[in-house]
Amino acid sequence: VDPAASLVHALRRSAAEAPERPFLAYFDGRLTYREADELSDSVAGHLVARGLERGDRVAVLLQNSPQFVLAVLGAWKAGAIVVPVNPMYKAGEVGHVLRDGEVATLICADRAWESYLRRAAADSPVRIVLTACELDFQTRGDARVLTFERLPQAPDADDLTAVARAGHPAPADRDPAAADIALISYTSGTSGAPKGATNTHANLMYNAERQSTGLHLPEGPVYYALAPLFHITGMVCQLGACLNSAGTLVLTYRFEAGLVLETFAEHRPHYTVGPSTAFMALAAHPDVTRDHFSSFVNISSGGAPLPPALVEKFRAGFGPYIRNGYGLTECSAPCASVPPHREAPVDPASGTLAVGVPGPDTVVRIVDDRGEEVPFGEQGEILVRGPQVVPGYWRRPDATAETFPGGELRTGDIGFMDEQGWLYVVDRKKDMINASGFKVWPREVEDVLYTHPAVREAAVVGVPDGYRGETVKAYISLRPGADTDPDDLAVYCKERLAAYKYPRQVEILPDLPKTASGKILRRELRSRAQDSQ
Ligand code: ATP
Repeated sequence: VDPAASLVHALRRSAAEAPERPFLAYFDGRLTYREADELSDSVAGHLVARGLERGDRVAVLLQNSPQFVLAVLGAWKAGAIVVPVNPMYKAGEVGHVLRDGEVATLICADRAWESYLRRAAADSPVRIVLTACELDFQTRGDARVLTFERLPQAPDADDLTAVARAGHPAPADRDPAAADIALISYTSGTSGAPKGATNTHANLMYNAERQSTGLHLPEGPVYYALAPLFHITGMVCQLGACLNSAGTLVLTYRFEAGLVLETFAEHRPHYTVGPSTAFMALAAHPDVTRDHFSSFVNISSGGAPLPPALVEKFRAGFGPYIRNGYGLTECSAPCASVPPHREAPVDPASGTLAVGVPGPDTVVRIVDDRGEEVPFGEQGEILVRGPQVVPGYWRRPDATAETFPGGELRTGDIGFMDEQGWLYVVDRKKDMINASGFKVWPREVEDVLYTHPAVREAAVVGVPDGYRGETVKAYISLRPGADTDPDDLAVYCKERLAAYKYPRQVEILPDLPKTASGKILRRELRSRAQDSQ
């Protein structure tokens, strides 16, 4: 790896080679590479003038917007570590991140600052605050888009856009080195307090490069940011890949299916990456047509299981083949993906769609409970070693030693590898359901449910059962106008799955709970199921 490789260098290179090319497109607003380079220089200059030191943490709590991008690039140019924070976090969750990350600088939406972040930051080390009105770059008065009025600046916060436009020169000698930490990405904390994975600039560059080369995108590719940028997938596979290939990144605040389809029609993107739930929502939208997808050269799904039935429905209905990819925050987004011009096989025994093949220089091993490698086709825990694997967790030596023994990532996912080198993810180890001593993997049951024409979203969880220990329960949301009932869905599964696997309980909900990055929250459904026992 080039020791000077980072996304800051990629920005400078693109700004030198294609200064007038649009880098960011946000509703009717555009920023060229030259503008983004200058504006982020100014943010960096301001932060350093306010006393930010190299290696200090800068938390960024913004939706997908040019301000998010300028905040991150400005912080990196000032030599800081960026802590992207889910803007849907509640005050207590933000407070944990600010204290754990010892965050000195907070960049957030002005509304969030006024309504709850000021409180969250009160007992934290934060001393520099920049706030942004995220729709500053918007000129179109679309009623479905949240239109924010700029709030009068709070006396203790500077305005990000004004700071960016002030023309401060970039600080000297603050450019990041490849080995420096670029991000502290907090996991969602399903097993205890959230831990911060420390992604280095080299980690990010490796995956950004893989996502921007070899996908057969045209010169000056147009990326659409379907995944939120605060999540590692959005940050690396969209922002990172776009910067690295001097492309244009089209942003739309948040995911809203109708708006996304309009944006496809207007900007004609070549590539996007999102969670499978986003593709389900797009496919179920009443206005969707093949035309909306005609500009795409490639589409990837990552970060959550991709049901094979969705891939087929999508291809038949709209044309593109959805390419699976597997990754974690701890490996800076993908560590295995489906190469262009290939299609992922489906394992005939389990019906599981392969997630891809490991990337170059990436070694994936499957081990049993004793840590011994298992033969091809046998299930075990997935371990990953490679240039995208982070060095560890922020100031958590115990958790680092446990999850990264000898630098190899223990993913906590169960999977297997076939003889051709395709990797299959069975499910998360901790989501396994133990029904009368039989292992049931929720994903397998969900894959069957997705083949039912009425099903829009499906999530399967284990619920306590006096007789079996645990029993299988499915939560479903239906496609618009679909006509079915829980018994019909249970029978449908019973005809296709072993007796211990089919869901004995089925509940239909209007929508399934999801994380801000679009993953279905089985955890929440599990507690809902327990509460209703
Ligand atoms: P946690 O805090 O519990 O780790 P998280 O969902 O925020 O939660 P991420 O790093 O975003 O953590 O997600 C990684 C997980 O997503 C993987 O461990 C795996 O279980 C799942 N996953 C990612 N890609 C795929 C895929 N293609 N198929 C199946 N599962 C996937």
